[in-house]
Amino acid sequence: MSLLSALIYNLRIYKVAKPLYGGIGHVLTLHRVVQQLEENRLTWSRNLEITAGYLEETVNYFINNNYDIISLDEMHHRLTEQKTLAKKFVVFTFDDGYEDNFIWAYPIFKKHNLPFAIYITKALIENQLKCWWYDVEDILLCYNNITLGELNLETKTKKQKELAYLKIRHLIIHTPFETGYAFYNALMAKYPPCKSYSNWKPMSKDQLAILNDDALVTLGAHTVNHFSLSKLQLAEATFEVLESKTYLEHLLQKPIEHFSYPYGSADEAGAREFEIVKETGFITATTTRRANIFKDHKNNLYALPRLPLIETPKEKMFFKMSLSGFLPAYLNTCKRVVTL
Ligand SMILES: [Zn+2]
Repeated sequence: MSLLSALIYNLRIYKVAKPLYGGIGHVLTLHRVVQQLEENRLTWSRNLEITAGYLEETVNYFINNNYDIISLDEMHHRLTEQKTLAKKFVVFTFDDGYEDNFIWAYPIFKKHNLPFAIYITKALIENQLKCWWYDVEDILLCYNNITLGELNLETKTKKQKELAYLKIRHLIIHTPFETGYAFYNALMAKYPPCKSYSNWKPMSKDQLAILNDDALVTLGAHTVNHFSLSKLQLAEATFEVLESKTYLEHLLQKPIEHFSYPYGSADEAGAREFEIVKETGFITATTTRRANIFKDHKNNLYALPRLPLIETPKEKMFFKMSLSGFLPAYLNTCKRVVTL
């Protein structure tokens, strides 16, 4: 795909998809915003971070290209009212609730007087989240060999560490819940991290209160413990969704109406999870299926796709190819309204 995609990108062939697959707007997925990207990191977790410079560049791109940068409420309004609007929209959403959203992202949106949203994980704000994606990165960067039960991974080189990360990620979130987390706990017990490479911090409640008082900011829910919902029993999955809403409504003293699924791919959120979120009383929910928003998403408000914003040359190219709809059409076998 890489040589072909470079050709498609450089010759601007991807633009042909725009009328059919460009949609009426886009929702962007972000996680962390940092001052500078670090070299000594593993791809999967480092890609959760972009620099404040790239965020501002992206905001300016949408301003200069005549997009409306809108809130989740406004997107919901546009979808449900089915108005025909000449301008496309874009919604910036951040998952999890990291402190750097407050430090680096908030000032950029404030300066431009533009809205954005953060989906909050309860356990993160309460300093109780087991952030396995950073723990796994830390131990792989610390150790040259990982053995546990039948698992035996040599992790000397960067490439071995990257492959091991994918393998361990799979074992934690793509297996039955109890098995995955028991494995993760055993791994952490045997291999205590020697250092925190990612420097992540949860947003404080004081910072959250400041954002809560600002009309530009939408705070949404992102479960209690950031588990893969599809791997939980119905009662547990329902609790994760409902409790994250109740907790935030109590803390922030306002209705919490927007939700995003942890991980958010088809393996982690499907028809059952969409129904739970709908029944819990949210008005929209976002996945990480890579696609654009169409008017027909009016009937799929609990399965809204998003486009990831990742700061690598390849992903920057993919981002432009996604806005036009070319990459989503390729990934979703020419389906326009991506839900399941
Ligand atoms: Zn998340």
